[in-house]
Amino acid sequence: MKLHLLAILACPVCQGDLVYESLPEHPHEDDEIGEGMLQCSACKAPYPIMDGVPRLRPEDGNPDARVAKTRESFGFEWHRYPGPRPEDRGLFLEETQLAEDALEGKIVLDAGCGMGRYTHVALSLGGEVVSLDLSESLTRLIPEMIENPKLHVVQGDLLRPPFKPGSFDVIYSQGVIHHTADTRGAFDRIADLVKRDGFLSVWVYGTPGSYASFKTNPLKSTRAWLKAILPLVWLVVWARQIFSDAVRVFTTRLPVRVLYALCYPLTVLGAIPLLKYMTFSVEPEFQVRLIENFDWLAPPFQTKHTKEEVGGWFASAGYEVLSRLAHGVVPKIGALGVRRSKPGEK
Ligand SMILES: [Zn+2]
Repeated sequence: MKLHLLAILACPVCQGDLVYESLPEHPHEDDEIGEGMLQCSACKAPYPIMDGVPRLRPEDGNPDARVAKTRESFGFEWHRYPGPRPEDRGLFLEETQLAEDALEGKIVLDAGCGMGRYTHVALSLGGEVVSLDLSESLTRLIPEMIENPKLHVVQGDLLRPPFKPGSFDVIYSQGVIHHTADTRGAFDRIADLVKRDGFLSVWVYGTPGSYASFKTNPLKSTRAWLKAILPLVWLVVWARQIFSDAVRVFTTRLPVRVLYALCYPLTVLGAIPLLKYMTFSVEPEFQVRLIENFDWLAPPFQTKHTKEEVGGWFASAGYEVLSRLAHGVVPKIGALGVRRSKPGEK
């Protein structure tokens, strides 16, 4: 951890300033801290710095077993995900809808970084990136953090983000907050971390909603014949969601290793034409498809939202929506917004 990061860190419990205490057995060199302690100047809560990562997850934690399971399942899957891939850059720009130069020289938060797939892209686009995650998967970013002075890795919870309001020029959170215990709460908390006139890009899982809403989706990259049978598509998407919710009642309760093993046959099915649409990933690469099937079936929390809902979140947090991400078939609903209110204001 770089000492200058303290300027934007805050106690996740009370938002007090954090103070660094060096450990006699681990003196730090210049700006870089490998092992040490942070303490809240207000509530005195202690937070360790381990392997250069400030662990800003309160010890008392959340007693909800589903939160522990969420941490475990994402830690498990991101440790098995392949490294960064060339297509990540295009996917990042498409999903966040950020311009290629939007991160240049900016302080950026990767809110829910996983193993850092998009952190690598954000760094390559010139951002100084703070990568936050609850699970241990973020340890995969430690070797790069040691090499790259523009990367900071922080462990923490999106429902209690350990940063001061208005700390970031750009925040993106891609497919993350619907896996927290309170999707809207997580949105509001990260929305307040953006500076005035800064950008926020978020996507969450979509639900088809009413047909009136569904038919106004842009249906980008959807073929003309699909548009011609749109009511049927809407019904199929709904049926698929009901089926998947029913399956998840069981799969979210399985031990992660058992579920991962069960995902193998499903992933083999994913290579077969037509049958692949009965699975939860049609990714060409086997290992990625395996992780995506697991990713769909494992996390205890998985909320789904309409574009009207997500647009409402942006508006009530003081944002103007610049562009929307909405697929009628692929269940991703998101937006890019610019903050018009001051931090602390709505
Ligand atoms: Zn505190």
